[in-house]
Amino acid sequence: MIIFDAHFHLDPAGRCVEAAKDFERAGGSALMLVSMPYLRAVRGKEDIIEEYEMLLSIAEKVRRETHIKVFTALGIHPARISEFSDVEEGKRVLEEAIDIAADYIAEKRACAIGEIGRPHYDVSEEVLEASNEVIEHAFEAAKDLGCAVIVHSESAERTYEDLSRIADIAGIDKKRVVKHFSPVTDDTHGLTPSIIATHSNARSACETMRKFMLESDYMDDTNRPGAVIGPRTLPRTVKKLLEEGFEEKVGRAMTDMPEEVFGIDLQDS
Ligand SMILES: [Zn+2]
Ligand SMILES: [Zn+2]
Repeated sequence: MIIFDAHFHLDPAGRCVEAAKDFERAGGSALMLVSMPYLRAVRGKEDIIEEYEMLLSIAEKVRRETHIKVFTALGIHPARISEFSDVEEGKRVLEEAIDIAADYIAEKRACAIGEIGRPHYDVSEEVLEASNEVIEHAFEAAKDLGCAVIVHSESAERTYEDLSRIADIAGIDKKRVVKHFSPVTDDTHGLTPSIIATHSNARSACETMRKFMLESDYMDDTNRPGAVIGPRTLPRTVKKLLEEGFEEKVGRAMTDMPEEVFGIDLQDS
């Protein structure tokens, strides 16, 4: 049985490979390792490349030390825009990060763009608009590459309406837009929801949703160990759901959906 976590972070300052080993021991077999802020600030190309190389070397290390299939998503966290006093400058750097991610993906050194998006906290109209433009930029890049984009945004349901409208403008295949930390809803306008894999949340997804992926959004933050779900939770949730008879939904979330959305092969050995 393949157990795939669609959104997993590892931090060189956190437990890093040890957390991946916990995931594997609990039954995990594949994961999408997603960019997170590693440097204190990102001012331009050199910093962006440094962060991406850090993530790719962590991915390599996990592959060396475990049997986990590791896929990577490169991007810049939308909260980074708040680090710039000049919103235009922030937007320029975030879009540059997307362009650089696109180069890595074109060279097959990474699989997807992410996470990018718009802040989940209240921001000014100006920041919201700039963030929407960054999202559009990412969707256009992904459309050209035929890859997926992992989006971080507020979790209100209207987020789907907005993202869908931007996807229409960019012309991206909507299933390739993954809304991570998705609310449990089927009203996704054709975008792909990724659901946090606590047991109660994932169970209600199985009961009410047609299509979804599961994620931990494991943060690897040793300062807040209880603040997020740990690396073992998703595999445990999956096993419980199987015992509860949700084979079909779970099988789809673990294999068919990720293969289709990310264009990856989880079944070859
Ligand atoms: Zn996020
Ligand atoms: Zn995340």
